[in-house]
Amino acid sequence: MMANHQLAKAIADCGWSEFLRQLEYKAKWHERKIGAINRWFPSSKRCNSCGHILDKLPLEVREWTCPSCNSHNLRDKNAALNIKAVGQTVLACGLSSSGDQSLTDLVILG
Ligand SMILES: [Zn+2]
Repeated sequence: MMANHQLAKAIADCGWSEFLRQLEYKAKWHERKIGAINRWFPSSKRCNSCGHILDKLPLEVREWTCPSCNSHNLRDKNAALNIKAVGQTVLACGLSSSGDQSLTDLVILG
């Protein structure tokens, strides 16, 4: 995300590392787990209904219709649902995000 100059300043301004530090602290405090997905996981471009992945999705496109299942997707909600599915897959399989198998592979196999 930092490579995108439009987003880089906004991300840098929000204190991303401080947010992660706080999140890890709170998770440990409440005995919760934190996972991270592969930075290249196509969370926005992957249809949460059927798994179809678009070749490209410009940042300015906030809504799109899946050419495979005709599902209408809101970019951010679709990405959130895909990330949630990855987290549920990891929890169901009992794997940690630091394992050898990438989360992207888990989603494709699931
Ligand atoms: Zn679809």
